[in-house]
Amino acid sequence: MTDYKNKKKFDTVVGMFKELDLDPSDWINKEQKEFYFNQKKRERTLQNVRYYPKELDKIILTCTNSHTFTPNWLEKRFPSMPFRTRDGHLLQPITAQVKCPICDEHTDINLPVNSNYIGDAHLYGDEAMRDINEKIIMSYSVVSQPRKMDIHLKFKSEFLALKKELVPQLPPDRWVLHYTELMNGGQRKKIKHLSHITKPETLLFSKKLGKLISEYPDQLVKWNCTGIYHKPIKYRKEQERELKSRVYYPLLGRIITEHTDSGMSPHFHFERTGADGWAKNLFNGGRLTLMWPFISRVLPIPNPTFNIPTDSIYFEIADFISFVIARYLYVIGKRAEGKYLDFECLPSWLGEIRYLGYTEVGTCMFETESDYPLEKFFKGTDWFPVK
Ligand SMILES: [Zn+2]
Repeated sequence: MTDYKNKKKFDTVVGMFKELDLDPSDWINKEQKEFYFNQKKRERTLQNVRYYPKELDKIILTCTNSHTFTPNWLEKRFPSMPFRTRDGHLLQPITAQVKCPICDEHTDINLPVNSNYIGDAHLYGDEAMRDINEKIIMSYSVVSQPRKMDIHLKFKSEFLALKKELVPQLPPDRWVLHYTELMNGGQRKKIKHLSHITKPETLLFSKKLGKLISEYPDQLVKWNCTGIYHKPIKYRKEQERELKSRVYYPLLGRIITEHTDSGMSPHFHFERTGADGWAKNLFNGGRLTLMWPFISRVLPIPNPTFNIPTDSIYFEIADFISFVIARYLYVIGKRAEGKYLDFECLPSWLGEIRYLGYTEVGTCMFETESDYPLEKFFKGTDWFPVK
């Protein structure tokens, strides 16, 4: 453990407690403290995260008996997480012990500690799914709320002004924009405050909203991860959850590391849907792995918050982005089958996005682009045939 303000080092947590005269009730990052002090919670928590960033496999350790090995990144173990105290101290573990799989000897591994903790960032996520014959398009988008309050308020007022233009009869912060409802003619007609809107008006609104989002490239940062999967013969909630986790884990892992590399602690917000088990798994089980200090740079990561959609406009923005990208890929898929459909909304309207996708063999790819990287992600498949 190291105390980043006074640059002191301690061999054990107990030794640190004694020397600094610390009281456990002074810890403020509660979820991490619980894992340290509550053995029952640790035992009861399941670790079923199945994904870790593949670049970690480049780390090779040698034990005292000269065996070389890569650590088991996802094995459940005692956590390596930082403590924050009320008086602003951040205490971070700097090494962890790993058992050699051949002789069981313990070897120290240095943790990639970032001791320059700057502050918190708020991130909002939303999903979109499309069925396309035997395939499932699973798309998830995350947007960051601008960190500067004046920019957040400016964006918010411009967004609410667009909503007001679309639905003048209601205060724009009193209804939630769900993009499928707006874009589907049948659904739109059934919703009282949307029923007056024509199709050309929805397209004009989409274009304006895309433009607004693209005008804040550095403050309103956007990520998307989309996976295309063969639909399992038995496709129920359980299989759906499994496919979702394949999209969410790489995306959230990536976002956590992008933030913690620059000293930011990401605070995720998800819509409260009752089907949020995957997020709880990542933030509970994931903490009890050696992967966690590596993706989080040993900075404190709070548990996600589960909100109602009216809590933040950024849920509506994430919903829009997921809709646009899922719809785009749906049309690409339909055209590949010979059915011509209109795109309606285009990913290029949204400006720069950090896109994650998969190769045919399942390797995760990452590209920051101002249009969907169709060629990079799908070259050689039906969706982007090589001519
Ligand atoms: Zn060994």
